[in-house]
Amino acid sequence: MLNAMNGINHYDAIVIGAGPAGLTAGIYLSRTKLKTLIVNEGTIGGQLVLTHEIANYPGVENISGYQLAMIMKGQAIRFGCDVKSNVSILNLELDGEIKRLTLSDGNTYTSYSIILTPGGRSRTLGVPGEDTFKGRGISYCATCDGDFFTGKEIVVVGGGNSALEEAVSLTQYASKVTIVHQFDQFQAFEHAVEEAGRNPKIQFIMESTLTAFYGNESIESVDIKDLKTGKTMNFKTDGVFIFIGYIPNTEFLKGKIALNKWGEIPVQPNMSTTIEGVYAAGDSTAKRFRQVTTAVGDGTVAALAASNYIHEYKVKQKQVTNA
Ligand SMILES: Cc1cc2nc3c(=O)[nH]c(=O)nc-3n(C[C@H](O)[C@H](O)[C@H](O)COP(=O)(O)OP(=O)(O)OC[C@H]3O[C@@H](n4cnc5c(N)ncnc54)[C@H](O)[C@@H]3O)c2cc1C
Repeated sequence: MLNAMNGINHYDAIVIGAGPAGLTAGIYLSRTKLKTLIVNEGTIGGQLVLTHEIANYPGVENISGYQLAMIMKGQAIRFGCDVKSNVSILNLELDGEIKRLTLSDGNTYTSYSIILTPGGRSRTLGVPGEDTFKGRGISYCATCDGDFFTGKEIVVVGGGNSALEEAVSLTQYASKVTIVHQFDQFQAFEHAVEEAGRNPKIQFIMESTLTAFYGNESIESVDIKDLKTGKTMNFKTDGVFIFIGYIPNTEFLKGKIALNKWGEIPVQPNMSTTIEGVYAAGDSTAKRFRQVTTAVGDGTVAALAASNYIHEYKVKQKQVTNA
């Protein structure tokens, strides 16, 4: 333990992931003068950088996701936070008082606390045209993009609670919403199914799936395959919202920390996990609403809780040394 504490690669806290949750945690930790390292597998900003325009981040009228991420990164660095991007984790030890992380840069880093913010990704259909029209008519977030489809005709894919609730919420904007679902029944609560069924703007195409997206600048039509007959029809639409599940980026945590059956990290209200000194924040945690604001809020709480934990840990260590 002494080696780790005296080693050059020791930090008070390490944050895994540099999306809005991780960058916020880094800002708060380094602002309280804790020596902090953020490590990120890909580009800094996480899902923020996939977002062309953020219109619902309070205090900022309109900003690109990339710009917002760069401001957050700059703030963290100005407060003294170290940030490493494009590195992968080779080894991670969360148990024990000193946490240990080995990265693809060949170095091992230790810390008293770790905050996990690896985020996640929407499940995709994986059919031709989906990558081309992401952000150009295809969306995975009604709260983020619904307004762009005011007065337009759209398709919603999925049959769970998210698909039905979001389809209903999208009728505030869209003139017509067609829900396409692969089974003959929905996997949603009865009240959600009834509410969608009562909405005059919503129509259903059951036992069918989307097999291709077409368009020019943005999406213009989709192919819908009837799974009973095998026949495919081309269907004109201005946009497609896909709600077929969410995948947290927690594969690397399997066997290291408790995950729920969806692979999300369960957390307490102070964002603590089942392991002392380990906190989690943002889209990788078990929660209903996944937004930049909620990620930023989680990151704040996790950082403040971790900061208390670290201060208490240091006081205890001093008492042991002085005894
Ligand atoms: C297309 C799109 C548009 C959106 N639009 C909006 C919007 O308008 N408004 C809004 O509020 N929200 C929007 N969202 C949602 C918002 O972007 C997310 O809720 C938010 O980014 C989640 O933040 P996070 O920090 O928890 O995770 P993420 O943003 O997912 O960041 C996680 C980071 O962790 C890194 N990481 C993952 N695994 C590892 C690992 N093993 N080691 C190291 N690093 C790792 C990832 O590379 C990533 O950089 C949108 C999302 C998408 C996809």
